[in-house]
Amino acid sequence: MKKRIVILGAGESGTGAALLAKAKGYDVFVSDFGPIQDSNKEKLKKVDVPFEEGNHSDDLILNADKIIKSPGISSTVQIVKNALAKGIPVIDELEFAFRYTTGKIVAITGTNGKSTTTMMTYHLFKEAGLSVGLGGNIGKSMAGQLVDEDFDWWVLECSSFQIDGFTDFKPHIGVLLNITPDHLDRYDYNVENYVASKFSLFKNQDKDDFAILYTEDNLINKNLDEHPFSSKLLELKFDDLPYEGAYANPSGIIINLNERRHTFSQELLTIKGKHNQTNAMASILTSKIARIKNDKITDSLPKFKSIQHRLESVGSIYGIEFINDSKATNVDAVYYALEAFTRPIIWIVGGVDKGNDYSQLDAVSTNVKAIICLGKDNAKIKDYYKDRCPIIEETQSMQEAVEMGYKLSKDREVVLLSPACASFDLFKNYEDRGNQFRLAFQLLEREIELKKLSQSC
Ligand code: ADP
Repeated sequence: MKKRIVILGAGESGTGAALLAKAKGYDVFVSDFGPIQDSNKEKLKKVDVPFEEGNHSDDLILNADKIIKSPGISSTVQIVKNALAKGIPVIDELEFAFRYTTGKIVAITGTNGKSTTTMMTYHLFKEAGLSVGLGGNIGKSMAGQLVDEDFDWWVLECSSFQIDGFTDFKPHIGVLLNITPDHLDRYDYNVENYVASKFSLFKNQDKDDFAILYTEDNLINKNLDEHPFSSKLLELKFDDLPYEGAYANPSGIIINLNERRHTFSQELLTIKGKHNQTNAMASILTSKIARIKNDKITDSLPKFKSIQHRLESVGSIYGIEFINDSKATNVDAVYYALEAFTRPIIWIVGGVDKGNDYSQLDAVSTNVKAIICLGKDNAKIKDYYKDRCPIIEETQSMQEAVEMGYKLSKDREVVLLSPACASFDLFKNYEDRGNQFRLAFQLLEREIELKKLSQSC
C-alpha cells in the first residue's frame, strides 16, 4: 500500500511538498486551516491531490505515515500535538526535499541577514556559471522545483522554524550569521531553546562539511563550546584574522582557507553597513569553498543589487536619500541600519511593538536628527526619545511620514524607514509597508518636479 503523506499548510512550501510527494508516488493529502490561494488549488487539482481548507480533519490527517508542516504552524497547535502524540513524524519541507536531491546544500540561518546572504551567495554561484537552485524561506519551494529539476548546489535560507523540522538534513556548508532573541513565543520564552534551534543546523554535518559562524556575536560566542562540531569550523571576524575563515577591515575582506589567502576590496561591495560585511564575508567564503575563482567573485560582487526592503535606496531628491529598511522588524536590525550611515538621519520608526528595548540603540542613535513615529501606538517611542532627540513627529500615514521626512532634512541627509516593529497595525505586511514608502517617495518626487516646472514657466 502507498505510504500516506499529509501536508499541513498550503502556501508555497506546502504546495511544493505536495507536488513532489505526489510525483514520488505517495498518497498525498493537503490540509489548511485558512483559505488556500486559487493558484495553489489549481496546482493541486492538476495532479489530483485532494485538499481541505478552513479545517483540519483528524480522520484525514492522523492516519498519515508522515506529516510535512508549514514552518508557520507552531508545534503547539492541537493537530500537531495529536500527530506527535500518535508518533507520526512531523518534518519540514526542506527535510523532505533534501531526500530527493543529489546536490550539495548551503544552508543559511541567523536572526537577521538570512535573505541578503542567501541572495548574495546565490548571485555569486550563478554568475560563476554553477548549476544552482534557490529555496527555503525565499522564492520558490525547493520541493516544488525538484519535481522538474535538480541542481549541483542549493542555496537555502533557513529560519529556526524550518530547522526545527530537520531530522536528517545535512548541509555541506552551514552558515550562522547572528543570534538575538526573537520569536521567543515559539520557544517557551527561553532564549536557550532558540539558540539550540539555530545551532542544530549543524547537527548532521561530518568532517567533510563546513560550519561558518560569526563568532564575535555574543550569543554565538557564549554557546560555541556547548555545541561541538564534527565539521570544519570557519569563523567570520572583525577583530582579528582567524586561522581559517574570513576577516573584514575598512579596506578589504580577507579569506583564509586551506592555507591560502584571498583578498577582496571593500569597494566591490554594493551594500552598506557592517552587518552587510558579515553577510559578504559569509557569501565570499562559501564561494571559495565551492572553488569559485577570485576574478569571478570580483566581477560579480559589484553587480549584486540590495534586495527590496533591506536598506534599499529608493532614490534621492536634492541629495536627500530615501532608504527603505521595512524588513527591520526588530531592534537589532535597526542597530545596523543606524550604524550604516555617518550622515544625519531622519528616522521613521514604529508599528506593533514586540517588547523593544530602545536603549540598545543608544550607541548608534547619535546621528538621528529627527524621529517620525509611524504607527497606531507611539507612546513607548515618544517616551524613550523625548529627552534624547530634539524633534519628534507623529503620523499614521506613510505619505505624510515621507513628506515630513523631506521637510525636516537638508542636503546629503538620509530619510530612513527602519521601523523596529511589526507592520500589522497600518499595513498588510512588511513588504506592503516598504512598497508604500517607495510609492510615497515617487509621488513626492513627481510633485516636486511639477512644482519646479510650473515655476520655470
Ligand atoms: P532575514 O532574512 O534574516 O530577515 P534580511 O536579509 O531580510 O534578513 O534583513 C533583515 C533586516 O536585518 C534588514 O533590516 C537588514 O538591514 C538587517 N540585517 C541584514 N543583515 C544583517 C546582519 N548580518 N546582522 C544584523 N542585521 C542584519
